[in-house]
Amino acid sequence: MCQTPKDATPATVTANREALSRYAMEDRQDFADADRGLIAPLPGKVVADDGHVVFDPEAMAYIGDDVPAPDTVNPSLWRQGQLMRRGGLYQVTDRLYQVRNNDLANLTVVEGDEGLIVIDCMAGVESARQGMKMIREHVSDKPVAAIIYTHTHIDHYGGVKGIVDLDDVTSGRVPIIAPGTIASFDKFAIGENVVAGNAMARRSFYAFGGLLDLDAKGMVTCGIGTISTRGPLISYISPTDSITETGTKREIAGLEFEFLYAPDTEAPEEMHIWIPELAALTCAENANHSLHNIQTLRGARTRDARNFARYLDETLERWGDEAAVHYGPHTWPVWGNENLVPFIESQRDTYKYIHDQALRLANKGYTPLEAAEVIELPDELARKWYNRGYHGTLHHDVRAVYTKELGMWDGDPVTLHPHPPVESAKRFVDLLGAQKILDEGKRAFEAADYRWAAEILHKLVFAQPETPKRGISKPTSTSRWVIKPKGLSGVESISRPPWNYAKVPSLPRMSPRVRTVSSRCPSTSSSTSSQYI
Ligand SMILES: [Zn+2]
Repeated sequence: MCQTPKDATPATVTANREALSRYAMEDRQDFADADRGLIAPLPGKVVADDGHVVFDPEAMAYIGDDVPAPDTVNPSLWRQGQLMRRGGLYQVTDRLYQVRNNDLANLTVVEGDEGLIVIDCMAGVESARQGMKMIREHVSDKPVAAIIYTHTHIDHYGGVKGIVDLDDVTSGRVPIIAPGTIASFDKFAIGENVVAGNAMARRSFYAFGGLLDLDAKGMVTCGIGTISTRGPLISYISPTDSITETGTKREIAGLEFEFLYAPDTEAPEEMHIWIPELAALTCAENANHSLHNIQTLRGARTRDARNFARYLDETLERWGDEAAVHYGPHTWPVWGNENLVPFIESQRDTYKYIHDQALRLANKGYTPLEAAEVIELPDELARKWYNRGYHGTLHHDVRAVYTKELGMWDGDPVTLHPHPPVESAKRFVDLLGAQKILDEGKRAFEAADYRWAAEILHKLVFAQPETPKRGISKPTSTSRWVIKPKGLSGVESISRPPWNYAKVPSLPRMSPRVRTVSSRCPSTSSSTSSQYI
């Protein structure tokens, strides 16, 4: 993101080293689990038909297992990056396999007696093809008997045409099973990613690191996936079989599947899946090796933290005594009932705690930012690696609870009708003067008060984005937030972030009647599929 990334400041070095002392880095169970059942490593780059590289597993080799966290990276996040960049084909349990980390999401394949059941299809056709090729080479060449979408996000259906042809589905040979009515699944799958798609794509550059360089001062991990793929071919085929009631069962290729309908959780339509013969359970994206988003920063309707907890609890009630393994569409499995039950319980309690504490403080008069500043997870929850904020964060999840329950206004009359950012910034600059703001920004930066430095300098950037004589770089379509050493009077100057991209990824154009599509996300240096998580 930064055109000339700097070394960590002394304050950052100290903060990261102090953080290291708080973590149980000797706990390597996650590494053992992430490696467990490896059948074959990824065969190499994922390459599109036009020759461009969609994903290169070696591109993040700088996050090696034996490479300690650099001063610029929080060691807990670096650890998550080390876990997320291991990829390949894995056997999870008898008959159940996953291809992990050649895409943002996992490909899960269950081998039935007469065919393969594919649970989620990755974000891109090319990654899904590579995954299925590995399955064919190492597991089975049985035909695909069914596809199951666990929820409406594109990293779970976008690769579907890398797995089946449309004719397989329209002929009825391969059903696609999904949560919600077919109309509802279509509505949210298409609507969330297309109607507001350009805005989401723009925001996702910030949310998922699409602007970061691939080095130790740049990209580390998306939290629940490795680096976003670049310019994947994205496809969609509408479901043919809807699950709208918990307890619904389907027999597919000789195996029984039972579903728990979990709407309005991590996605508007989502479901958990139980395969009794394998004692295998997935809570889809409602249980992960990371705190998830109650409000994804790429933008989407706010989620309901209560429902995360409710459906995780219901899952434990139904299958908690029998489950032997939990696998997810992101991150790695949890084996053993004695491990997976505490894992699901702890995730359940985390989302419930966030919900309840946010509302408790709201009722006491706290505004969202005030509540987010003081709420911390109890140690029992916070010390679990999987509850940490690699993807969602506690701070923005607390604010999201307010949004979900109380709406966008924070309850302070003064904030109801404020000036927009540029108008407000001009007034601040007129009042204080550009030099004084620059001086204060530099002082705050040197004092490691980065939040205040960003807040005060933000006024200057917005008020005078095209005033080079004042030390502010003229923004371009490729400019970034840049702190340069050659500003006015030797202090830092800043350029404004690229709000208007020359190339914003365009998404599939479709009418409501069109239920199948393939469209390529543009292959720009910063295009990404991760906006759809
Ligand atoms: Zn996902």
